[in-house]
Amino acid sequence: MGFEEYYQAFRAYTDIYSKEYQKRIEELEPYLLKFMEKKGKVLDLACGVGGFSFLLEEYGFDIIGVDISEKMIEKARTYGNEKNSKVEFLIGNAMNLPFEDNIFDYVIFLGNTTTHFLPRELNRVFKEVRRVLKKEGLFLINFIDMRELLSRIQMGTVIGEKYWINKVVIDKEEKTALIEYRSDEITFRVRFVIWGSTTIDLLARMYFTPIETIKLDELSYLNIYKKK
Ligand code: SAM
Repeated sequence: MGFEEYYQAFRAYTDIYSKEYQKRIEELEPYLLKFMEKKGKVLDLACGVGGFSFLLEEYGFDIIGVDISEKMIEKARTYGNEKNSKVEFLIGNAMNLPFEDNIFDYVIFLGNTTTHFLPRELNRVFKEVRRVLKKEGLFLINFIDMRELLSRIQMGTVIGEKYWINKVVIDKEEKTALIEYRSDEITFRVRFVIWGSTTIDLLARMYFTPIETIKLDELSYLNIYKKK
């Protein structure tokens, strides 16, 4: 099973009205507003079904959402139509963005999306983010420390409403983890790239200057960077 199916299984990423999705919004909203003081042009990178795009549109930002998944973008557009939203949703790859240089005031990269990218790939993503940001632009990235999370995961941990973790296989180099989820009906496996908060920050500092790190809870962070 790929990531697309994995996300379909969890409402926290696919149903913007669910309490799980709303909880993510409530957690991040005050910080996004604090650091995104001036209104401007925002790229919601790997936007998924677009909940954060709609949130920022309500506050007067001009948003473009990009995601590689057709299914996610289709759902984002459906929500957009229901809401009479002007957010533009595009299918695209974060490693190769379909935009000119220096056009966004903000790039937001939320929801632990780093776990999709191997080191050389995340390096390409950060390079692209830097390229499309304006000179004074900000990069806001929210992630979970997967290294720390994996050390705490126990078999049988319940995730969402009906799945539990049945097995975790970490590769020899400890770069990726294959997690097996099980419910009464199905079993599926997803491979995650293991990023710790320190390694994400180190990579980001190659392209950006750190402004602030906010620890949202024991495992999750919102880091804010300025273009170097
Ligand atoms: N940012 C959204 C949120 O917080 O709800 C979605 C987060 S979800 C954890 C990760 C998203 O990354 C998925 O929608 C997936 O399709 C997208 N994604 C994965 N690889 C990508 C890539 N190379 N380029 C753009 N989007 C990608």
